[in-house]
This record gives sequence, C-alpha cells and structure tokens, in this order.
Amino acid sequence: MNYEIVIATNNQDKIDEIKAFFQDYTVDFLTLKDIKLKLAVNETGKTFLENALIKAKAVAKSVNKTIIADDSGLQIDALKGFPGVYSARWSDHLSIQDKNLELLKLMEPHKLRKAQYTCALVISYPIKEIRFFVGTTTGKITKEPVIGPYGFGYDPIFLSDERKLTFSQIPLDEKNKISHRGRALEKLRICLLEKKLITKTKRRSR
Ligand code: IMP
Repeated sequence: MNYEIVIATNNQDKIDEIKAFFQDYTVDFLTLKDIKLKLAVNETGKTFLENALIKAKAVAKSVNKTIIADDSGLQIDALKGFPGVYSARWSDHLSIQDKNLELLKLMEPHKLRKAQYTCALVISYPIKEIRFFVGTTTGKITKEPVIGPYGFGYDPIFLSDERKLTFSQIPLDEKNKISHRGRALEKLRICLLEKKLITKTKRRSR
C-alpha cells in the first residue's frame, strides 16, 4: 500500500505541483477535500516556517495522519521583501492579475529587479515528529506580465535566473526542477526515502 500524506492546502496549483513531483513514488496525497476537512487558518506567523507550522498543526488537530503544509511567497528586494509572508493576503480585494500589475507599478521607480520565491514545507508525522524544509529560487521582476500557458500567482512577472523565462512559460515538471517548492520537495523526497516510507516506482507512461 502506498504511503499516505495529507496536503494541508486548498490551493489546487500547489497540490498539482506536489503530486507531479512525486508521480513516480509510492505515495498517495490526500487533499483536504478528500478528507472532507474545511481549513480556515489565520496565518499570523512572521515567517513562512511559522505559517507552514500553523497550517500543519491545524490539520493535525483533526487527522491522525502524516501531513505536509507549504507556506510560500515572493520577496522583492527593492520592495524590502514585500509581499513576502503577505503574498496571499495583501490587497485581498484585488485579483491576482491586478496584484501583479500593482507590483509592477510599485516597481516602476526601481532599477533593481531582483526577487526570490521561498517555500517552507513542514511535514508532521502522526508520532508528533515534525521536520522543516526550505527551498528558494531567484529571478527578476519583469517590466510587464509575460503570460504563458503554465504556472499561477506571481509566475507571469517572475523571470527565472536559471531559465530566462517566466515561470508562466515553464511546464510544471520543469518548474519543479528549479522552483522554490521543487527544491523544498526535493529535500522532503530524500527524507522520505531515507526513512523508507516511499520508494521509486517504474516511470508511468504519460
Ligand atoms: P500561501 O502559501 O498559501 O499563504 O500563499 C502563497 C502565495 O504566494 C500564493 O497564493 C501565490 O500568490 C504566491 N505563490 C507561492 N508560490 C508560488 C508559485 O510557485 N508561483 C506563483 N505564486 C506563488
């Protein structure tokens, strides 16, 4: 039987990236919908790690299973790290497209376009053991949104230093190799393999 992990998020894009990352491993991910749990947490932490822990603990109250929680966001150097931990929450009334345009407006006076995405991942085992993994990736904020067929959130305005494309232009499997979430997931993958909780399966034909 595959190892089961609950993903403590309602964000379908994150769920898709996590499932794709582990597609060749003996692990089944359950979503909050699968376990019929409504999660509304106040992300009151000052760091990504604190917020990831808040989410994992909120789910652990209701479910006696292994849980992973991801808190992530975009940090723009010229804006002193904004939106950072507020990535999901600032200007709640705006659509993500309008948030991207708003960030570009805030960036207009700035030459320095450096930014990074950070992902903090927490895994909480039923025996109350908890582990943290952090992944980052660097890039530049574009002058205009570069909308491609992939990605979500701030991806249209994040030009990857490694690929010289925005994350909206990079297919999910490729994004997972260089993204903040992919890098945190890679650390998690090694940990799960070392603990012999999962193994690699034969690559599925797609
Ligand atoms: P949270 O981690 O659910 O609090 O939300 C993080 C927010 O940061 C998301 O809603 C997105 O707006 C943004 N974000 C995090 N990771 C990514 C990514 O890989 N691409 C684009 N936006 C992201």
